[in-house]
Amino acid sequence: MIRMQSRELPAETLAELADLQQEIDNHPTYLERVRAALELWPSRRRRKVFDRVEKELGDMCPGLKRCMFCEDNGAYQIEHFRPKALYPKLVYAWANYLFACGQCNGPKSDRFAIFSANGKVLELVRTDSDPESEPSVLLDPRRDEPMDYLWLDLRGTFRFKPIHPEGTPEYDRADLTLDWLGLNERDELVEARRNAYDDYLVRFEKYVAKKRANCDAETLKRLRRSIERSTHITVWREMQRQRQTVDELRALFEEAPEALEWP
Ligand SMILES: [Zn+2]
Repeated sequence: MIRMQSRELPAETLAELADLQQEIDNHPTYLERVRAALELWPSRRRRKVFDRVEKELGDMCPGLKRCMFCEDNGAYQIEHFRPKALYPKLVYAWANYLFACGQCNGPKSDRFAIFSANGKVLELVRTDSDPESEPSVLLDPRRDEPMDYLWLDLRGTFRFKPIHPEGTPEYDRADLTLDWLGLNERDELVEARRNAYDDYLVRFEKYVAKKRANCDAETLKRLRRSIERSTHITVWREMQRQRQTVDELRALFEEAPEALEWP
């Protein structure tokens, strides 16, 4: 996971979302707002305004519209970061939307956890009033930089590990995110990251070889683009970050330091 660059929606799109939100907010009690949120979403989701929402979310996604959580599958489900079953006031909030695949969105679903006043992880259950809007435990790729919490083992398991020690809130955030999304448990993701490493390496070696041979700028640009549009961009970012500890990477980045800025 990496942080997504949030985009702005046009004013008219935001206004349409605000109207839809008003439909929910008009209900007098929290439980009625929850019910309305859940009932209305499937039909409202088919409205034209969501074509624009999907377009912007798709452009924010890593690679070619890959899931913001796993980076592997295509993104096609609008995921409410703060679930509509708990936060009916955020059902049509642009900032609350992510674009995810079914395999990530399914298990996460309506789950949400915050840090309680004493710093403990507290999974929210529905009550009869709006829940606290305390900071989330689950990492939000639109607000958090997941790479500040997780690192990817490039030289063995290709699984993510928390950067911070156990007992810290940063560890709890990393640990819960890995657990809820199954980022280490889904074998196909682990294998895809391993393949992505080999793929990035081959492309980067080719780039460096062409650069060494004084190849034309257009070819170099095309090779650069092929790296930038690949899946599992976190693997590439980790290759940049861990270059000093992996011999084959250190040499390549020394020859092509411009690749530290991609993408
Ligand atoms: Zn996914």
